[in-house]
Amino acid sequence: MEEKLDQYLQKMLLPADEWVRDLAAEAKADRVPIMDPVGMNFVMQLIRLTKPQRILEVGTAIGYSAMRMVEANPYASIITIEHDKVRYNQAFNNIHKMEMEHNIEVIHGDASEVIPTLAAEESFDMVFIDAAKGQYKRFFELAAPLLSDNGFILSDNVLFKGYVADEEKEHPRFQKIARKLRDYNDWLIQHPNFITSIVPIGDGVAISYKSNGKELKDYV
Ligand code: SAH
Ligand code: MG
Repeated sequence: MEEKLDQYLQKMLLPADEWVRDLAAEAKADRVPIMDPVGMNFVMQLIRLTKPQRILEVGTAIGYSAMRMVEANPYASIITIEHDKVRYNQAFNNIHKMEMEHNIEVIHGDASEVIPTLAAEESFDMVFIDAAKGQYKRFFELAAPLLSDNGFILSDNVLFKGYVADEEKEHPRFQKIARKLRDYNDWLIQHPNFITSIVPIGDGVAISYKSNGKELKDYV
């Protein structure tokens, strides 16, 4: 996002609680890429508006985004998946410290393997995809069948530091990730069962609403 605009939006956020600042500091010290505050604030607002009861998160890191989702809806129950053992332990400890273990279950494992095991008993009102950028399509395809009707899937970082929209912007590693995200976004907007809106907030958040095509036809 344009830098001045982003700075302005950051400045317009009300000060966060101490536990939120502590988590952000922990993430910074460990170089863990948690959601940026403006994007997080937007996701929290979506949660207040839609009040999802059951949330699936792909990519827990240290638990920051999951805990902020509970902050936005204390009645939410979240399953979040993390494959890195160190981060999983950090998340587990942070969640317990804030006594959010009744809201958040952290599962240690690769999301591609864990999501299919949830299929039998679970359905979700919201899915938040924020893990390996090259696997977004896979995570989406695995999670979509678990989504309740009128549910939605959020994908974070879909504009990736401006590299997705600007093909000229050079960076050996980022360009490669940007290419994958560009393919993902192309695929996403064409998905027959979802209506997607890409919002240029934070690092870019795609909101994909499950329509099943039925409602669409009702309107035309
Ligand atoms: N949602 C977090 C940030 C997640 S960072 C927040 O905003 O607070 C992305 C995380 O996804 C990393 O911790 C990484 O270890 C994890 N991850 C990447 N690929 C994964 C996979 N296939 N399965 C589970 N976790 C994965
Ligand atoms: Mg992210």
